[in-house]
Amino acid sequence: MKLWPLTGSLLPKRILQSSSVPAKDSELGRLRAENARYKALLDAAPTGHLTLDSGLRIVEANLASADTLGTSASDLYLSSFVANIKSEDRLEVTELLSDIDVAGDSTISTSFYTKSCSIPVMLHFTQVDSSGDKDYYCHVAISDLSEHRAIQNNLRIARDGLHHVAYHDPLTRLPNRCGLVEQLNLAISTGGDNKVALLLLDVDHFKQINGPLGHQIGDKLLCEIASRLLSTVRQADIVGRLGGDEFAIIVKDFSSLSEITVIADKIKSALAQQYVSAPYEIRLSASIGVSVFPDHTDSAKQMLSYADAAMNHARLKGTNHIQVYTDALNTSLTERFELERDLRIALRDSQFELYYQPQYDLRTSSINSYEVLLRWKHPQRGVVGPESFIEVAEETGLIKPIGEWVLSEACKNLVELRHINESTKFGVNVSAKQFINGNLRDKITRILDETGVPANALELELTESALFEDVDHSVSVLQDLCKAGVELAIDDFGTGYSSFSRLQQLPVTRLKIDRSFVHDIPENPGNCSIVRAMLSVAHELGIDVVAEGVETHRQAMFLSEIGCDVLQGYYIGKPATFQQIKDKASLKTDSKEPATA
Ligand code: C2E
Ligand code: MG
Ligand code: MG
Repeated sequence: MKLWPLTGSLLPKRILQSSSVPAKDSELGRLRAENARYKALLDAAPTGHLTLDSGLRIVEANLASADTLGTSASDLYLSSFVANIKSEDRLEVTELLSDIDVAGDSTISTSFYTKSCSIPVMLHFTQVDSSGDKDYYCHVAISDLSEHRAIQNNLRIARDGLHHVAYHDPLTRLPNRCGLVEQLNLAISTGGDNKVALLLLDVDHFKQINGPLGHQIGDKLLCEIASRLLSTVRQADIVGRLGGDEFAIIVKDFSSLSEITVIADKIKSALAQQYVSAPYEIRLSASIGVSVFPDHTDSAKQMLSYADAAMNHARLKGTNHIQVYTDALNTSLTERFELERDLRIALRDSQFELYYQPQYDLRTSSINSYEVLLRWKHPQRGVVGPESFIEVAEETGLIKPIGEWVLSEACKNLVELRHINESTKFGVNVSAKQFINGNLRDKITRILDETGVPANALELELTESALFEDVDHSVSVLQDLCKAGVELAIDDFGTGYSSFSRLQQLPVTRLKIDRSFVHDIPENPGNCSIVRAMLSVAHELGIDVVAEGVETHRQAMFLSEIGCDVLQGYYIGKPATFQQIKDKASLKTDSKEPATA
């Protein structure tokens, strides 16, 4: 029996009962007013409230509860509370409610079914009174979790988004270094005894391509590389970008290294295809370093550093190489780092010195020229030859400041020596790095200006590999240098890939036959023929010939007989300090003798 039509709350039966008790009008009025206040209070509450009777039927419901549950209070009235609960939770709720007087307040998170939908709710049960009143057994506070869930959902999406940003490269959308380490850890921890390989890949000369093409095209190229790598590997393998032109591939579950080599070969041929984003034909290659779990290490970070060491070695071998990690690589890499550090100190502390090796001119029977050779007076290791540090100096770019120092120091000494013998010339070795990337001509003309050395007293020695890596570029740089008046020699001739037809293209004045052709003449008829042929063609082209590494009288005699122009080697004189050659030159002038060996 209802006291008021119940659109919002269901009024307590207790009040109805009280209203049915004969009472004075004033008492009835007070009760009615109390009921109205109670109703207003309940309906004003922001959270849903229900009262259940001992049969667990809903006997009271405020506006917020009807609102939360998406129904009306009249629909809720006398309906079974438990029947509205998600079926999986019904038993638990029933047990909770039956124990409520023993266990006290309790809370459960579940879903509440209404006619039209199911709503996630948090239910908090409190016993109404313990006096055994079956009509008012328990009170239920309802919190709507839909909003809470929505917030949680949004938070999860935001968290996922942040995770994606932190673990992915924005350009290619591939996992970045963090993402890769995460995936590598996962592959190692979930793969059981299966091998996992990490391939680190550095695109050869990408910076040289990226620079002139511009970064926009460079970015497109990187995306193209990423998609080629993705289409080369298997579905389960993972491709990542570590930054710049460095990519990584995690290969899972393979049995032998030959499988990795096959993948590396596939990658190489994929990269070598023409690129649509490039405005002209570009074929890329890569240096690849490989480390393997568990063969090399069982730590993801270590795998990265080992693959990195291997990749650096692959790069040093030239382009398009693959290198699998070995322990020896790491030691030599450490040595390289130490060498680089020591070379910087050497530059700063003036530990370099120049030695000079005389060249004997068979036509004038005199020594007027010297090759300038670099030495490092190492504080612990003593005098160190260039062969043990030039390569690292080239890789680290230190060859530029070192080479500049050589040129300027040599020119200062040349001025002094030309006071004794004014026809003295120096040959200075120039590395490919200085030649290809540096503004060599400007540096040389500045040094010549500063020291007052005439340009034709300076000869630059360049190896074939430096000259022929990019012939067009070589021709223009050499012509530039020639215009400045500097002479040019091809060093170690015969050891590279140059041919005489290519020689014609270059403004070269001297050709230095490598000592590997000289060391066994005249005994070795093959080398005798080669040296003869070199002489004859060079002379035909108007180029002078120097034989390097002449150590014996027999070699010198043979070379003289076949028409060689200049001899250099221990037989003529070992590389000596500037003071030593200066003393010798002064002695020759004082005794008015020609400066012979
Ligand atoms: P290179 O230009 O071919 O220099 C000749 C090398 O042969 C020198 O070695 C010299 O000491 C050695 N040599 C000369 N005569 C004989 C001989 O009769 N028998 C034998 N067995 N060897 C002889 P070094 O001084 O150790 O220089 C090695 C290489 O280092 C040079 O080869 C040159 O390519 C490079 N180098 C030397 N100085 C410089 C420099 O200032 N800059 C650059 N970029 N490279 C340099
Ligand atoms: Mg040389
Ligand atoms: Mg040489």
